[in-house]
Amino acid sequence: MKQLKGRAGARKKRKVQIPQVRSTYDAEPLDPWLQCGPDTTVTELWKVWERREKETTLHLVYFDRYGWYCEHGPSCKAVAEVRRVIRTMSANAPRPRSSGKTRARKRK
Ligand SMILES: [Zn+2]
Repeated sequence: MKQLKGRAGARKKRKVQIPQVRSTYDAEPLDPWLQCGPDTTVTELWKVWERREKETTLHLVYFDRYGWYCEHGPSCKAVAEVRRVIRTMSANAPRPRSSGKTRARKRK
């Protein structure tokens, strides 16, 4: 019991120092042929605006035979965002984590 209490206390003390400012993303599909030319191997090209407070960061996210990558690297958050958008679009199904109206919840 004592241990449990101690743990809980320690947990409370631990504050996250960096305030988490949420970024919002706007993703817009572009035509890779128009942007990169007809010889491009890029099959998807997305422009992503990341907005955080007053800052706006522009990302260019590509997809080719090597996979997804952003101009900032394959692990850029914009890549995940575009993939999420595409999954949502192509699935054309209720989103797994929408606010409770989904039928998916009843699925077993
Ligand atoms: Zn990026």
